[in-house]
Amino acid sequence: METEAEEKTQARALKLDGARVAGEIKREVAAEVVRLKGEFALTPRLATVLVGEDAASAVYVRNKIRTCEELGLASEHRHLHASTDAPQLLEIVNELNRREDVHGILVQLPLPKHIDESVVIEAINPDKDVDGFHPVNVGRMMQRRAALLPCTPAGIVELLVRESVEIAGARACVVGRSQIVGRPVAELLLQRDATVTLCHSRTRDIEDVTREADILVVAIGRAGFIRARHVKAGATVVDVGMNRLTDPDEVRELFGARAEKRLKTLGERGYTLVGDVHPAEVEAVAGRLTPVPGGVGLLTVAMLMKNTVAAAAKGVKGKG
Ligand code: NAP
Repeated sequence: METEAEEKTQARALKLDGARVAGEIKREVAAEVVRLKGEFALTPRLATVLVGEDAASAVYVRNKIRTCEELGLASEHRHLHASTDAPQLLEIVNELNRREDVHGILVQLPLPKHIDESVVIEAINPDKDVDGFHPVNVGRMMQRRAALLPCTPAGIVELLVRESVEIAGARACVVGRSQIVGRPVAELLLQRDATVTLCHSRTRDIEDVTREADILVVAIGRAGFIRARHVKAGATVVDVGMNRLTDPDEVRELFGARAEKRLKTLGERGYTLVGDVHPAEVEAVAGRLTPVPGGVGLLTVAMLMKNTVAAAAKGVKGKG
């Protein structure tokens, strides 16, 4: 007879290995950097701009800069005071647009409330828009033309493809309809011939919809929202959410038998990360599941590097 613990282990979903796939993409990017340096004496360069002191944003930007260093890209960073106004920020964006040695521009979002993000995004040269948020790139993507694709959605598709999850013909459900994750990932899955349903906060009886999905992508920003009852047995579940938990009781409830490690992290850092999927419950039902952290987040950064190198390479081709 198996012990309860053994049964639980057997029932756990297989990990969708974001770290492995991100590593693979990063190796390819590093090889392309070597080629661009060797053949064209060109070093792809990413410029990052951070306005204000948001702690999570600062961590994201640091990660991006560190990954540039790791892969041989050049980077430069502008950290601007929270009181920076739109004209000052636009001046910097324009300067980076003009510079030939800058191939990718990333303005870390969210921006302080007094700055209209859409104006800043539209000011970035679409060919340097490595976040893939500019309306020109969004339009190109919707028309299935060559575009800089948004990093998180493109990373999710890379993960599914490289982990051999069949997309064509599958029923895919995306929960969350943001411009940066939900909508574009739905479009990219559709382009790969999934039958896609998009859910949001007004969806009625949401579990009836999500439970139909072979592939369930969740991007809503609510810790542990998707429970076992939302998930079809054996489904592939991609958890995009990144939520900081600070309450030990909540950690125990979400992580069940494996809460101890997370409580340790909470003690050391003051928080631990959880996605939008309830890990303890959904692990027992799903076929495959992305971990948080160590899943989609790693792919987002890898795809940013890929976009920056592609933007640099496009410049070389343009001159050739
Ligand atoms: P967002 O702009 O806040 O959008 C949230 C979406 O979720 C909205 O469409 C909203 O519906 C929907 N929603 C909220 N509550 C819901 C509910 N109870 N039921 C169904 N839908 C609900 O969020 P986002 O920027 O897409 O980010 C989502 C999460 O992903 C966040 O945790 C964020 O930190 C994370 N994220 C992670 C990465 C990464 O690299 N891993 C990248 C980007 C974002 P309505 O439209 O009806 O309001």
